[in-house]
Amino acid sequence: MPEVDRAAASRAAIAARRARAAVKDAVRSGERTAIDVAESAWQSTDAPEAGLRVPELLGSLRGLGPARVADVLDQLQISPVKRLGGLGHRQRTRLSAWLRAREGVAGRGRLVVLAGPTAVGKGTVSTFIRENHPDVLLSISATTRPPRPGEIDGVHYFFVDDAGFDTMIERHELLEWATVHNASRYGTPRPPVEAALASGRSVLLEIDLQGARQVREAMPDAVLVFLLPPSWEELVRRLVGRGTESPEEQSRRLETARVELAAQDEFDELVVNDDVRRAAQEVVDLLTVPSDGARPSGRAGSAR
Ligand code: 5GP
Repeated sequence: MPEVDRAAASRAAIAARRARAAVKDAVRSGERTAIDVAESAWQSTDAPEAGLRVPELLGSLRGLGPARVADVLDQLQISPVKRLGGLGHRQRTRLSAWLRAREGVAGRGRLVVLAGPTAVGKGTVSTFIRENHPDVLLSISATTRPPRPGEIDGVHYFFVDDAGFDTMIERHELLEWATVHNASRYGTPRPPVEAALASGRSVLLEIDLQGARQVREAMPDAVLVFLLPPSWEELVRRLVGRGTESPEEQSRRLETARVELAAQDEFDELVVNDDVRRAAQEVVDLLTVPSDGARPSGRAGSAR
């Protein structure tokens, strides 16, 4: 090769390397999506994107270290030396499906439903999460129950009358609602939950069994967690001990508790509340979306 051509080729190689580095930076900063980069590569073999090696693209994604990149390449049956422009049709299909699935979930927070019998300590666990994990949205329910002493409207619940609750139902403003303990109605306002999830924030709902079932129907990606007392005797002791309910109300709540405990098999995760800090940490772990966006797998690490 004549000297001038060699110099031109090396300048072109340097420029191409810089262009590839800029592409990786754009993916790393979130300015461009990996899918967008892959599609540019497949539109033109001259594009800088086409010269990018697949592991370089994957390695630019948040939370994907070299070991995970190697696993993904293995799963997609793509050799680590491959450049985007050199992928075969099937490899392109597999890579874009993987990238799309990841982008679809990584930008969304996770919805976790915390249910469990009365007096099991759902409130204590969620208070612990509120104080230690402000990044999680604790949904504030609407209820027709009158406030207890110390409860503040808009903080503990939105206290509404029957007509107000009917209006929320009619306007489809509730994600779920139920009559609890055969007494008052309780429901989850939909807009704050949807806004939080869309912005990538995880949401915790502390609701009853009927509500949990409705959420499962409406949002199948939700993770349903059942909080268990260490024993039935302990549950009775906690309910009677807190002294906030009349004897009739206590027996009504214990009856609901018996029914709810029988439904624990419907849940994805069982967490025993023998120690609030540990139980809350288990719930927090479920609220955290892993970098590959996978849902927690079954009941590993739970109470059985
Ligand atoms: P409390 O009257 O003790 O505050 O709550 C009674 C029950 O209502 C609890 O078991 C709680 O989980 C449930 N609950 C609170 N908010 C909601 C809600 O928005 N929807 C449903 N379905 N249940 C709720």
